[in-house]
Amino acid sequence: MEGNVKEGSFRDKVATVDKSGKRIWVYPQMPEGRLHDLRKWVTVLYLLVFFGLPFIKVNGQPIFLINVLQRKFILFGQIFWPQDFFIFAIGMAVFIVFIALFTVVFGRVFCGWACPQTVFMEMLFRKIEYWIEGNGVEQKILDKGPWNTDKITKRVSKWIAFWLLSFIIANTFLEYIIGVDELDKMIREPFAMHLGSFITLAVFTTVFFFVYLWMREQVCTVICPYGRMQGVLLDRDSVIVAYDYKRGEERGKFHKNEERTIGDCIDCAQCVKVCPTGIDIRNGTQLECINCSACIDACNKMMDGVGLPKALSGMHLKIISLKKGHGNLPGE
Ligand code: SF4
Ligand code: SF4
Repeated sequence: MEGNVKEGSFRDKVATVDKSGKRIWVYPQMPEGRLHDLRKWVTVLYLLVFFGLPFIKVNGQPIFLINVLQRKFILFGQIFWPQDFFIFAIGMAVFIVFIALFTVVFGRVFCGWACPQTVFMEMLFRKIEYWIEGNGVEQKILDKGPWNTDKITKRVSKWIAFWLLSFIIANTFLEYIIGVDELDKMIREPFAMHLGSFITLAVFTTVFFFVYLWMREQVCTVICPYGRMQGVLLDRDSVIVAYDYKRGEERGKFHKNEERTIGDCIDCAQCVKVCPTGIDIRNGTQLECINCSACIDACNKMMDGVGLPKALSGMHLKIISLKKGHGNLPGE
């Protein structure tokens, strides 16, 4: 792996694609630790807002409505009609500038902590998967194993759970588009009267199901335009998840009761095993890193275990880290 770092060969390929172009499936180990606990609380708040917002009304109107069909938009209780579109366009332009500036300062924190794709994938669907199929290694064994009763039961349970959750999410998105009252009416009235809406709902449910069952991290690493722009949005002052290359190298196994003469990285690969995008953070800042911070928790646990200082992998405000002699990445 170190040879890989020196050559920089990891930069020539996507971590989840092999030489023949076939996808390498990621079975991340269950994350745990202080930052993951914090993420759980952020997720609870996030989901409360996401699922609760369509039910909040101001003067009888929903506080948020993006009714593309009737070209009626309500943002924070303020109605925008098609003739107000220029305000909407200015708002969008301001929003895009904000996103760019936010990224320059805070890096990809949004991706790991607030993007619906990551929140739903890592904090809802992945949790269900762990609950039904077990930790990463168990999932891999199940995947490679024969289609026996155990595998069929677990797989079918997972598909049903994923489908139901996708259906709930699709309904919530529909609430943002047509409003809760309209959705309520749709459910109560005869099926034939809302055939189009039901077909839309089925399509959205299928898309979500497919994304969370199969596409997963590929959305962040291959499809999402925001993710693809990271290379030009980050600068030397951006907050990133980084491995302290100077402190960690030369990496080597930990031997109890032996004086350590090499770097602090004990080459346990725990940071790699928990990564939901399948990368090795020790290779430096990479396009695939969504700043989920799972590797920080994993590394801190190992450092604790062997009695070395924490934060070998951590959130680094790089310029400050460099002044302190930390945050040195490959090639620096
Ligand atoms: S490298 Fe670390 S922060 Fe980045 S995606 Fe992987 S686990 Fe998350
Ligand atoms: S978890 Fe920490 S010690 Fe283990 S391989 Fe990763 S960086 Fe090295």
